[in-house]
This record gives sequence, structure tokens and C-alpha cells, in this order.
Amino acid sequence: IQQNDSYNQLELDRKHFIGPNLSISYQQHLKILKGALQYLYDDKGHTFIDCVNNVSHVGHCHPTVVKAMYQQMTSLNTNTRYLHDNLVDFAKALTATLPPQLHVCYFTNSGSEANDLAIRISRHITGQQDIIVLDHAYHGTSTAAIEMSPYKFDGKGGFAQKPYIHKAINPDQYRGAYGYDDPDAGEKYAADVENSIALMAREGKSPAAFICETLLGVGGQIPLPPNYLSNVYKHVKAAGGICIADEVQVGFGRVGSKFWGFELQDVIPDIVVLGKPIGNGHPLAAVVVTAKIAEAFNTGMEYFNTFGGNPVSMATGKAVLETIQQEELQQNALDTGNYLLEGLKNLMQKHTIIGDVRGNGLFVGAELVRNRITKEPAVAEIDKVVEQMKEQGFLISTDGPLHNVLKIKPPLVFSIKNAAQLIAALDRILSQL
Ligand code: PMP
Repeated sequence: IQQNDSYNQLELDRKHFIGPNLSISYQQHLKILKGALQYLYDDKGHTFIDCVNNVSHVGHCHPTVVKAMYQQMTSLNTNTRYLHDNLVDFAKALTATLPPQLHVCYFTNSGSEANDLAIRISRHITGQQDIIVLDHAYHGTSTAAIEMSPYKFDGKGGFAQKPYIHKAINPDQYRGAYGYDDPDAGEKYAADVENSIALMAREGKSPAAFICETLLGVGGQIPLPPNYLSNVYKHVKAAGGICIADEVQVGFGRVGSKFWGFELQDVIPDIVVLGKPIGNGHPLAAVVVTAKIAEAFNTGMEYFNTFGGNPVSMATGKAVLETIQQEELQQNALDTGNYLLEGLKNLMQKHTIIGDVRGNGLFVGAELVRNRITKEPAVAEIDKVVEQMKEQGFLISTDGPLHNVLKIKPPLVFSIKNAAQLIAALDRILSQL
């Protein structure tokens, strides 16, 4: 009884002291007390396999990362106006993973702030205001980031599309006009961006930037069709715009066969935006640009960020990168991701509710439908599945504009055994639906 009382009090205090527009996961809320790698532990003694937290990239409370943070905290944490090895060491290590021309870093504290800066840089360089985004995209919570996030401005409480924001079709080969069987789907979806540029030109405008994730997260766990970005970037560059890759969710080896999502598309963005996994949960994000862009943005106005690039953040980022490399987590993302995708595709043969399985590495989605022909989204069913998966010890979540895509993006230490357990649990639950 005592525990229940304190639990209820915590919920009441949260309601009183915390902004109300923040939902809590699950009908029966969880109080998680501890995390270790891919496992989370609640106050009732339950253990959960975390199948969804792509922020705790190398695992919750990974000892190498914790040690690096702690050690740096005991000696110095201050802003970047003094020389410090950590800043340059991390920038060097980070940019070593990127194409050589992308070697100038701006460190920030969140993905939103980084996207905001990427847009500001693009607008300054091009002298244009207009931004092309993908429908249903999410790029963050700052005012500028919300303006370029249809997921937010088109949703509840949204304030409508700004005239300088242009939505391009989400290149969704499961639901869109050009399916998996169309070898030119990428080029055809990219034509919508070209069209958007043509409409702008009629008003005497051109795009400052095109921004999209290199696999779509909130848009529904969607890998981009082959040749999509190469065609989009061609159109955008021809119009003088800057191509921004939002790697906040999918970067750092998650997609398995490559380190960065944009590499799956064989393109080199002008600006890459990094966040979430870069600090394994520590607030760290970055904008990486070419020397040419950095020079053009050197306007005379300083770019100073109180916390961005501080020695503790830099030590953290470096430890995360080293851990990815030392533990060969990109390879694990590939092997475990392939195993998981195959297992889900097998389940799809047995359970007609699974309409589509897609992904790369440990960035995976399974779309649930009531009918494979009409593709009616199985919304009530997915909520049940997620709740029951939790009861069986798996934290999994939903995404997509229709709220019917099971999203799986665990810490990269997620093992083949974890994947086998997840598939078995999902099989049991779908059999009983
Ligand atoms: N871009 C993408 C693709 C994201 O998923 C998010 C966060 N969900 C952001 C940007 C914003 O990052 P943050 O929450 O760190 O501001």
C-alpha cells in the first residue's frame, strides 16, 4: 500500500509541476529505476528488453561512456572559449566517419537546435527563406523546427503550414503511388520535389534547403527508395538549394551496412545533422558542414553556444564512437537487424495483420493492417500488441502517420537472442489477437 501511495503521489506531483502536454507511455505507467545496456528495470522488480530506445545507442549506462563522462567531470567542464583537446579530438574522430569534405563541426545540445542552425546557415548562404520538407516529417521542437515538421504543424495544436514551407510526398513504397515493384519509384517520388521547386520559381523564389531524414522515422520507419536522394539532391542543387541530411535518429551505424543513412543512397549532403545517439543520452548534437559552407556562414556574427562542445560532452561523444568501433556494433546492427527482418517476414506469412516489414539494420518497422487489400490501419490492435509486449517484457512502440507501424530501434547491443525472443513473443501475441 505504501508503494502505491508514493506511486500515486508521484503522478499527482508530476501533473502539478510538469507541463501537461507530455504523455506517459502505456496504460499502466512504468517507473523505470535502472538501465543496463539493452535492459531496463522497474520498481516492481520486472526486467524489460528495450527494443525502442535509439538514444541509448551503445546501451543504457554503458560503463565506458559513464567512466569517460565522470573522469572529465572531475577535472573541468566549461565553455569552448579556451583551448581544449576534447573539442578537437572529438571533431576529428567524428568527421573521420564522414566524407572528407564534411569536416567542420558546430556542437549543440539537441537535434532541434542543430536543425535550427542548419536552416539558419542555409538561409544565410542562399539568401532564400523557403524550405522543402517531407510530409509527416519531424525535425524538432524549436519554433523553426516545428515549422518544418508537418507531424507537428498538421497535428493537434498545430499552427498550419507557413507559406515558406513546402511539403513533398513521403516516398512510401507500401502506401504511395509508386510501389516496391516500380524500379523507378525513387526518381518518380523525387519528381515531386522538382515540381515544388518549379512552383516556387513561378513566384520568383527558390529553396534555401531541402531537409529529410535518410530513413524516415516518424514518417513510418521507411527506408528511402533506391535513387531517391540522388535525384532530389540533383533538383535541389540545380535550384541553388542546400541539401540537409537529418541523421538524428538513424546515424552512427544503426543501419548496419553503412555508418550513415545517406550512404545507403550514395549521396553526400551539404550539411549533416546529428543528435540522439551521438551522446548515448547525454545532451549532445552537431551540425557538420563543408569548409566552403562554414566560410560563407562566417558572417561576423559569432556562433557561441554556452554548453555546446563542452569538455564533458566531447569526452562523452568520443567514448560513444570508440565503443561503437571496439564492440563492432555496426556489424551487430547488420547481423541482428537481418535476423530480425527475416523473422518478421516469416511472421508476415503466418499473420495477415502484418502488411509490410521494412528497414535496414536495427531500424525496423512492421506495418499492421486489418486487410491487406484496403490496407486499413490496425490501430486498436497495435495498441493492444504494444501493451501485451510490455506485459511479456518487451518495450516496443508505434509510429507512422496512421499510428499503425510497430517501430523497433533498440540500443545497438541488442542481440540475436533478444531478437529471437522478441519474434517469439510477437508470434504468441498475434496468434491470440
Ligand atoms: N530530428 C529527428 C529526425 C528526430 O527524430 C528528432 C527527435 N525525435 C529531432 C530531430 C529533434 O531532436 P531533439 O529531441 O534532440 O531536439
